Amino acid sequence: MQLETPVLIVGGGPIGLALALDLSCRGVHSVLVEQDPRTAPMLLAKAGTLNARTLEFCRHWGIADQVTHWGAPEDFPRDTVYCTSLGGPLIGRDAAPSQRDRRPPDSSPEMLQKCPQHIFDPVLTRAMVARGNTELLYSTRITSFEQDDAGVNAKLLDITSGETSAIRAQYMVACDGAASMVRRGLDIPFEGPTLDYSVSALLKIDDLERFHPFGMAERFLFIGREGTWANMTSVDFQSLWRFTLVGSEERLDPARLDLQSYLKRAFGGRAIPCEILRVVPWRRSQCTAASYVQGRVVLAGDAAHTTSPTGGHGLNTGLGDVVGLGWVLEAMVKGWGGPQLLQAYEAERRPVAIRNGQSSTRNYKSWVRRDDDYQQVEEPGSEGDAARASIGTQLNAMLFPEWNSLGIALGYRYENSPVIVPDGSPEPPDDASVYVQTSRPGHRAPHVWMADGRSTIDLFGAGFVLLRLSDLAPSTVALKVAATAQGLPLQIIDLRESEVALAYEKMLVLVRPDGHVAWRGDVLPDDAAELLRIVSGKATIEEAAVA
Ligand SMILES: Cc1cc2nc3c(=O)[nH]c(=O)nc-3n(C[C@H](O)[C@H](O)[C@H](O)COP(=O)(O)OP(=O)(O)OC[C@H]3O[C@@H](n4cnc5c(N)ncnc54)[C@H](O)[C@@H]3O)c2cc1C
Repeated sequence: MQLETPVLIVGGGPIGLALALDLSCRGVHSVLVEQDPRTAPMLLAKAGTLNARTLEFCRHWGIADQVTHWGAPEDFPRDTVYCTSLGGPLIGRDAAPSQRDRRPPDSSPEMLQKCPQHIFDPVLTRAMVARGNTELLYSTRITSFEQDDAGVNAKLLDITSGETSAIRAQYMVACDGAASMVRRGLDIPFEGPTLDYSVSALLKIDDLERFHPFGMAERFLFIGREGTWANMTSVDFQSLWRFTLVGSEERLDPARLDLQSYLKRAFGGRAIPCEILRVVPWRRSQCTAASYVQGRVVLAGDAAHTTSPTGGHGLNTGLGDVVGLGWVLEAMVKGWGGPQLLQAYEAERRPVAIRNGQSSTRNYKSWVRRDDDYQQVEEPGSEGDAARASIGTQLNAMLFPEWNSLGIALGYRYENSPVIVPDGSPEPPDDASVYVQTSRPGHRAPHVWMADGRSTIDLFGAGFVLLRLSDLAPSTVALKVAATAQGLPLQIIDLRESEVALAYEKMLVLVRPDGHVAWRGDVLPDDAAELLRIVSGKATIEEAAVA
């Protein structure tokens, strides 16, 4: 018997899991195929930083609380310490408040959280299973696929039994990671530089702060004459640490990797009891797939883009793909989306991956710089002190965008999308650290607390929403009639709250299911039906202008 599904998801890492969950919330059935025997089978030494936008997605999926309060001590300071070693002199410190002392920014109901993947991925899995719309096949690998005009046929291998079977899907989404078999199968180039080869070791160290003079900190950057050569970051704010050796291909060869000697250097001669749990070599790169969509096969997450972890944007960017794609697939499967929608997914999300990758690479270059000052960094005495002080000040300034990246998290915008109607207003600056809310088409719709205690962003997610924000706003009946005729889910919400009206700038704002503004104005276009045809991908802006 051949399995059939509207959406086949290849890969049950965080991006595949989140896509299955998002589709589930939209009432779209999917089959998720993962070659591992379960979610996060090994302790992952990877993502930990989930930004404010990701937390907004989690809020929509109903898991923000689990991602925020998962058992980490909430009074653990989030400082970064720059030092030559845990036994050496301090170079500088970027102080950051603990979870207990932090508050969300004015522009969001949520804030950045630290939640390691061995916690996050199972949270996604449980939420997805609870929704009941996903068939999850573990220990199963997609080995090949082919597509025709109406769908995709893929071959499944049951890794335990060795048996093969077939599956037919309307759409297939590759969430199979940076080495994506699907991307390679489609011959899509993965463009961009390799920055270095690094190795991460997962360490168990109890009460690390007992063994060094710097006090509790989330992260230590170890700096020598060669620049930042390693870092150690808390994974669970208890005893798990990720120790990463930056750079150098020889470190990829386990036979030549003398991890103990690197740990000795980092510990600065202090006898620190430490258990090595896992060692994972990886390639640091900034690559983007030349295209995200080929026919009915779509790329998302690391299959579509990679970035240096300096900034913690890889997984967050992938979750942006998920939310940008979930409603598009819903529209296609339910029949109210047109052919422009999948192209729009690529036109919108690919530039964001490039933007976030470039920002991460800039951070990485700040890490590994080695100016003249660095020659003195390990010297005792006043000359060494002066060099260290200077390096500390420079690092604090240069890494500010890495530790403060609200602009990256919330300020991405979709310019030149075929399904967003520009209103001619100028594009605001795109700053890694600064985010200014706007209802300009293509941007994330602003957050404002409403009188009933909800955020405006809680209004979005299921279908389109037209906000009517003034008594002077024109009738929107024509839009509602057109939506019904096109089968497009549209809710019209009348809101009379001055702060919301101020933030949304226009009397009418049309927000998409992914929370981005598709159109805004003080009057409806003459042809309301045409507006809906554009934003749902059935007509191009040019066609509409001609009509
Ligand atoms: C050291 C480090 C630190 C990082 N820190 C952060 C951070 O703080 N914040 C952040 O946002 N990002 C971070 N990242 C990046 C983040 O970990 C990745 O972006 C994220 O894991 C990508 O998820 P994914 O689901 O796309 O791919 P993956 O996690 O690689 O998952 C792909 C899945 O597909 C499965 N698969 C592959 N091929 C097949 C097949 N043919 N059939 C079935 N299954 C298949 C694999 O088994 C795997 O489970 C970090 C990365 C590193 C290396």
